[in-house]
Amino acid sequence: MTELLSNYMAGRWQAGTGAGTVLLDPVLGTELVRVDATGLDLASAFAYARQTGGRALRALSYRQRADLLAKILEVMQAQRETYYEIALANSGTVKNDSAVDIDGALFTLGHYAKIGQSLGEQQHLVDGPAARLGKDPLFQSQHVRVPTHGVALFINAFNFPAWGLWEKAAPALLSGVPVIVKPATATAWLTQRMVKDVVDAGVLPPGALSVICGSSQGLLEQLQPFDVLSFTGSADTAELIRSHAAVTRRSVRVNIEADSLNSALLLPGSSREAVDLLVKEVAREMTVKSGQKCTAIRRVLVPQEQAADIAQAISARLAKTTVGNPRNESVRMGALVSRAQLRSVQEGLALLQSQAQVLHDGASHALVDADPRIACCVGPTLLGLKDATASEAAGLIHDHEVFGPVATLLPYRDPDQALDLIARGQGSLVASVYGDEPQALARTALALSACHGRVHIITPDVGSLHTGHGNVMPQSLHGGPGRAGGGEELGGLRALDFYHRRAAIQASTGVLQPLQAPPAAQTVA
Ligand code: NAP
Repeated sequence: MTELLSNYMAGRWQAGTGAGTVLLDPVLGTELVRVDATGLDLASAFAYARQTGGRALRALSYRQRADLLAKILEVMQAQRETYYEIALANSGTVKNDSAVDIDGALFTLGHYAKIGQSLGEQQHLVDGPAARLGKDPLFQSQHVRVPTHGVALFINAFNFPAWGLWEKAAPALLSGVPVIVKPATATAWLTQRMVKDVVDAGVLPPGALSVICGSSQGLLEQLQPFDVLSFTGSADTAELIRSHAAVTRRSVRVNIEADSLNSALLLPGSSREAVDLLVKEVAREMTVKSGQKCTAIRRVLVPQEQAADIAQAISARLAKTTVGNPRNESVRMGALVSRAQLRSVQEGLALLQSQAQVLHDGASHALVDADPRIACCVGPTLLGLKDATASEAAGLIHDHEVFGPVATLLPYRDPDQALDLIARGQGSLVASVYGDEPQALARTALALSACHGRVHIITPDVGSLHTGHGNVMPQSLHGGPGRAGGGEELGGLRALDFYHRRAAIQASTGVLQPLQAPPAAQTVA
């Protein structure tokens, strides 16, 4: 039998009492480890985190907590190679794709360790200037933010076991809020191992970080009014979470990061360089992590007169993508995470093909070093619609997320029509826009901001230095309105808002004065 991974909660390692769920290698089909959360005393775990972990973290200043993040980063860096091995085995990703998750996590941790220093020795945040409440300036209102006195429960998706942990835990711990993470079962190993390394290193106070692997059963029932819940996953699970009694009755603050049909838009009259940048980025986004990125480009909007050329150029790039066993050095794209995901991608593709034609067929990619009966590998597929009128009718293209290496080319008549089509995604995480003319690009960026959390503009001058359509940078907001979940994460110190409570303190200026530190070291930007 494979090893049963333990859960870390209430300050000790605890094994589930069930047989456990086996985690598999998605390329070889071999059994790796098991996870189980049966029979755990969740109520004690949450109480311990709230009382012991929360109290210890809140006793520290922001700077001291930023120092803890720096220490966690050191622990992670020392074990980086182990994390790559786990990702290879359990996620079936090539090294570059594992880096998006692992090095993305380390970069985000480092970013919060650094910017957290600017908050100094305080234990609360001043929120804006004081406001006079009447004619006499003696009595004023000062808003402050204090860490919430609860736990932060993270329920995470399978595609980012490393980054998904730290992009949430770094702002939570910096805020002084203890974390309980429940990773998606399929790839829980990497999250569990990272928590284990931090626990073994003794970096954090007891109760500050817990991990529960396996079923989510009973977790939401533990939530109390001052707890917060951050969920990443599908829109269907998000719906269940939003309507859960803990959320509706106890007003638990919830952040949802759900699925999204992100777009890439080429403006009319763009230079050859801008077109090439679109082609390159679309092919890259489709294939990184086998398209299992919430931010991946799913819809590609191009002027109708250029559609055929662009389809050919993207297809030519996709044709060069070698798919198969990531242990083979010639392979550029590894596996989907499981047979269930492979089935879901195949079914989704069949659905989209009822409205779109195949421009590049993923089935044309023979697998390298992998048995198609076992390996969860699939080649990249580019779909396309013939004209703008057809695309208006094609509702599925704007509605059904195929979580794999699949995108659809949508020819448009004019920019207004392109914006209308993009808005049919009903809110997305990110759109990228390609072109040359600053005024038109800036106008388009503002128009897209209404239905996106991030707009990524690629002009030839930033062609070699932009950070990538799908790469989530901690400096920028991550999240999107509508079907993207309506959540907000990251965005520098803005991320701390979720873990703080705002209150107005009405008092004489003498009482308010000790609460007001120099704005440079205090105000959340
Ligand atoms: P999922 O099936 O919704 O699962 C997400 C998490 O929810 C997992 O930890 C899962 O646990 C847990 N869960 C399942 N049912 C639950 C319930 N009834 N109550 C509480 N928790 C429950 O999503 P996924 O398949 O892991 O991830 C793929 C999806 O996530 C894609 O649609 C993708 O677009 C989206 N995603 C979004 C973002 C973003 O930032 N917006 C990032 C990554 C992924 P088990 O694994 O144990 O079932």
